[in-house]
Amino acid sequence: MTADKQFWFVVGSQHLYGEEALAEVKAHAQEMTDALNSSGVLPYPLVLQDLAVSADKITEIMKEVNYRDEVAGIITWMHTFSPAKMWIRGTKLLQKPLLHLATQYNESIPWATIDMDFMNLNQAAHGDREYGFINARLNKQNKVVVGYWKRPEVQKQIADWMDVAAAYNESFGIKVARFGDNMRNVGVTEGDKVEAQIQFGWTVDYYGIGDLVEVVNAVTEQEIDKLMAEYADLYEFDYGTNSKEDWEASVRIQASYEIALKRFLDEKGYTAFTSNFEDLHGMKQLPGLAVQRLMAQGYGFAGEGDWKTAALDRLMKIMSHNENTGFMEDYTYEMAAGREAILQSHMLEVDPSLASSKPKVVVSPLGIGGKEDPARLVFDGKAGDGVVVSMMDRGTHYKLLINEVTAFEPTEPAPNLPVARVLWTVKPNFQDGVKAWIENGGGHHTVVSLNLTTDQIVTYAKLVNLEYVVIK
Ligand code: MN
Repeated sequence: MTADKQFWFVVGSQHLYGEEALAEVKAHAQEMTDALNSSGVLPYPLVLQDLAVSADKITEIMKEVNYRDEVAGIITWMHTFSPAKMWIRGTKLLQKPLLHLATQYNESIPWATIDMDFMNLNQAAHGDREYGFINARLNKQNKVVVGYWKRPEVQKQIADWMDVAAAYNESFGIKVARFGDNMRNVGVTEGDKVEAQIQFGWTVDYYGIGDLVEVVNAVTEQEIDKLMAEYADLYEFDYGTNSKEDWEASVRIQASYEIALKRFLDEKGYTAFTSNFEDLHGMKQLPGLAVQRLMAQGYGFAGEGDWKTAALDRLMKIMSHNENTGFMEDYTYEMAAGREAILQSHMLEVDPSLASSKPKVVVSPLGIGGKEDPARLVFDGKAGDGVVVSMMDRGTHYKLLINEVTAFEPTEPAPNLPVARVLWTVKPNFQDGVKAWIENGGGHHTVVSLNLTTDQIVTYAKLVNLEYVVIK
């Protein structure tokens, strides 16, 4: 559990049932809060608030939620009936994610003892509908989780939502540094930066490559030595057909890029960035290994100036705690009957958070861009079920495309392929999945996650009023 963010637990009731009943509601809510916090399932702590028993109290809580940066969202529970007109003002003011937990203190109906007092105190089924009506009418796009609060699967749904809510809050702080513009002539990587900032909170700034080159040139040999030692600990060194000296000279250049990029981004508060192989004036290589290293540390990235995908990468890395999540590109089909799949890679920059094997540091020609041979990490991707996501600018609005995929480890060696590779099948099947992707205008640049679910991506899309299509 991380302490930099918290969620508030707001329990609805009213004064109608008397102070004794309210004391019991409060005690139950405290017990539930403690149990959820000690479950080990929630990524962030839950903090119980005063009972929501009046419009003034609810409005006061919601204002406080909005104001406090450490509060990432609220979870509400209707222990009793809580008249929904009391919730209108506060709910309208609420600017953070809302989860309505449809649960109740007791798991089963106690048939032998149930009386009117018990039923008045435990009427979540009644209260849920009154409260749900007003959220629907206010078009809150809130999440509803239904089930008994002690069940791990219910707690897991709360945890997944918390990760989305935390990422939603962080989304407004995502800053992308673009080194160079978008790749010439490419359509899908373009987009409306002002609209992206209005809708998603993403700040996207341009820098000429010379701004970065200046920082690269100031990196010292000692700094590079230190980073080379770290590479030796983490990766296998594969000299290939290079001499050791040539190989080292090439890798040291990438190390200087890693140090400079990190310095540049951190000093200016950027958490994502793009590069463009067409815009490398003053650079000896396209940043490859350097970019992969920064991806592994949680920075968002996409190639060819694709700032939308870089920001999406950062967003999904926050959501997934930077596990098994990264920038990807569709490359080559396997079309043999029964073995249909899509080979995923990039010219260099494949995210090592997806690696199933110890990455090798390889120096090899790039084939395009006319620069020196760049070093990169080469590995095979992990297996697992996940989602692949693409953001498109449709001219009038943004649109998100989500395809469920199953990644698997390649069995064929590819001795002449000097880049990391990831292989997956798409749902519902190759033909229909690929067709739907293309018909919807999904990009070749994507972010894949083997940790996140479609439901989480859709929850985010709803929070930012983003049109989405799910292919599954
Ligand atoms: Mn690309």
